[in-house]
Amino acid sequence: MVDLLRELVLLESPSLEKAPADRCCGFLADQWLLRGGIIHVLKQNHRGNHLRIVWPVSTSRPAGQLLVLGHYDTVYPTGTIAQMPFRLAKGKAFGPGAFDMKAGIVQALFAFEAVQELKIPATRNLVFLWTSDEEVGSESSREVIETEARRSEAVFVLEPSLGPRGLLKTSRKGVSDAELIVHGRASHAGLEPEKGINAIHELSAQIAQIEKWNNLRRGVTINADIVEGGSRTNVIADRAKATLDMRAWRVSDMHILEKRLRSLKPIHRGAKLEIQGGFNRPPLERKHSAALFLRAKSIAKQLGFALGEAAAGGGSDGNFTAALGVPTLDGLGAVGDGAHSNHEHVVIKTMPLRAALLAALLATS
Ligand SMILES: [Zn+2]
Repeated sequence: MVDLLRELVLLESPSLEKAPADRCCGFLADQWLLRGGIIHVLKQNHRGNHLRIVWPVSTSRPAGQLLVLGHYDTVYPTGTIAQMPFRLAKGKAFGPGAFDMKAGIVQALFAFEAVQELKIPATRNLVFLWTSDEEVGSESSREVIETEARRSEAVFVLEPSLGPRGLLKTSRKGVSDAELIVHGRASHAGLEPEKGINAIHELSAQIAQIEKWNNLRRGVTINADIVEGGSRTNVIADRAKATLDMRAWRVSDMHILEKRLRSLKPIHRGAKLEIQGGFNRPPLERKHSAALFLRAKSIAKQLGFALGEAAAGGGSDGNFTAALGVPTLDGLGAVGDGAHSNHEHVVIKTMPLRAALLAALLATS
């Protein structure tokens, strides 16, 4: 498992660089092909290709499918490996993308092998989907993820687990990618101040309103993460923009936030508001994970370890599948720490157990 993880980490696969990402995708395709999977490379123009692998059941009865979902892209640009080489120390494997989520892919491959070698009569088609743009919002993969999820009885997401005990993620917040843009009117701040409409003043007033929507106890948050506006001194700003990070645990709260955002009215006379975007990942509510988690917990017990659960404030592609009402279990990937940082690593000895857990889930779903 470590050898394969090394190869996979050395094949750097940044979300925003197609050529290296495609090489990583090709390597993964070869690995599954070697083990008898049926490969479909879903070609992309701008992002890396997505990879879909099918392992059909041997009987001809209609079977339905189980979806194993993950992404092979990382947040690290090509060349990061020079400063952050793949290395093993104190039972851990370090390297860009090792934890988020290449070790998860390795575990899934070994789970696949286990199901085959143990000749477990699969009752459903197994579909593995490895995408190339999760770290940048899954724009090019969302449709294929949703299409596969709709055909599936359950979705198993190989995103990293949480904390040293490897907690599964049974709920995740929905996350927005929204912009509030204010259009004002420029004029000379000294000669004709009465003719200007200050977009920055308007935006500030709006942000002061929006801030009141925060409800930490309910898990509703809204933050202006980036603001920009104005052009130069002496000039009343004719444009200003805030990038808004909205999050919520509940689908109902997401709808309320979106509605409130879209019903904002200008405070300064003459100012115009424009809203772009909204929630790009809906919340993953626990009700879509609960039953699968119970089963995972009981399998883990039989394998000799205790499995816990946690809620995550960030989204993943599991948010898309759960939002369709398809049972989704997330955080089944690696145990480790330091995602998106220079100390990213996985705990090696947990890899076989996690692969066994996934194999058992696939064999019994
Ligand atoms: Zn990830």
